[in-house]
Amino acid sequence: MTAELPFLPFSRPTIDEETIAAVGEVLRSGWITTGPKNQAFEALLSEYFGGRPVRTFNSGTCTMEIALRIAGIKPGDEVITTPISWPATANVIIEVGATPVFADIDPVTRNMDLDKLEAAITPRTKAIIPVYLSGLPLDMDRLYAIAHKHDLRVVEDAAQAIGSLWNGKRIGSFGDFASFSFQANKNITTGEGGCLVLNNLEEARLAEKYRLQGVTRSGVDGIDVDVLGGKYNMSDIMATIGLGQMKNLEALTAHRAALARHYFDCFGPDFEAQTGAQLPIQAFGTSNWHLFQIILPDNGPGTRADFMTRMQKEHNVGTGYHYAPIHLFTLYRERGFKEGMFPVAEKIGRLTVTLPMFNAMTFADVERAVAAVKSVLNSAVLNSAVLAK
Ligand SMILES: *Cc1c(COP(=O)(O)O)cnc(C)c1O
Repeated sequence: MTAELPFLPFSRPTIDEETIAAVGEVLRSGWITTGPKNQAFEALLSEYFGGRPVRTFNSGTCTMEIALRIAGIKPGDEVITTPISWPATANVIIEVGATPVFADIDPVTRNMDLDKLEAAITPRTKAIIPVYLSGLPLDMDRLYAIAHKHDLRVVEDAAQAIGSLWNGKRIGSFGDFASFSFQANKNITTGEGGCLVLNNLEEARLAEKYRLQGVTRSGVDGIDVDVLGGKYNMSDIMATIGLGQMKNLEALTAHRAALARHYFDCFGPDFEAQTGAQLPIQAFGTSNWHLFQIILPDNGPGTRADFMTRMQKEHNVGTGYHYAPIHLFTLYRERGFKEGMFPVAEKIGRLTVTLPMFNAMTFADVERAVAAVKSVLNSAVLNSAVLAK
């Protein structure tokens, strides 16, 4: 019966008609690559992040790589991050020739455990890449106290955290480098894209070079290249989408918080005790609720795949998993990482499921997703009880 309802994805972008019309204008304007729309988008983002310099790019991934290059991270340096993130977070460390080091996660926040971070610091550690999974910030005061104590740069992987707060301050409005993604599933999108919040204009100028082949222009026809840059600029088509999305950021962040609250209300106070599943922490006031993730009960192998398949087949509800532990990928095993090194990440990586959460979602959609989760988990508990007999 519920399978006849339209498919409820775990994420879906919303682009309003005004933005679609504005993109049409850019397409007809004769200037579609980086230009005035980018300047306007960077200015708006800079204002949003408290006046700090901001530069746009064609992905969130490259902003982290470029931040590491600006920070002078090089072969022989160690950079500490979390094993539970999108591969980009650790890949960029290898990309600049440095050595990735992981610190296990906290089972409640599912973010990097700051005790484990401190324990992982060596004389070769030069930077930290913290990740704000699902939009939940770390303890930012303690993070920066550790960074300052050990003289480490911080490249915040805030890909999921636009609109998140720490002590009432926007993530990205304080601290060291902050990297944001505008990939299609993020709270606001430019299709693909990202931005980097920097500390000063000197860093911003260097970021511009890394963004476009290291080029500096001067006079009428002067050009020089003194830095090995790449091709990472954002087109005005993308920036126009970003300008339209920023208008709705505050309203959609509030809506996502209301959806999250409805999730907790619908699951009810007994859900965890009855099913053995774990809800996220109720981080109202800090999280932007980019993802709503539950940890499934540890009922044995295959649990998550079965759960995801049944959510889809029996209820037509989409789910995701964010993320598999990075240190167990082949590329990382080849560098000596193996099972057992980060047990919390390995367990959460196996059991985490992302439920639907997107800007156009309704309270009825939340009710449908929760009913589906309860139905699948209750029959799964029943099945394992029968099997145990
Ligand atoms: C989306 C995401 C990225 C990568 O961003 P792209 O824009 O896809 O390059 C990196 N880290 C995290 C945590 C993300 O969610």
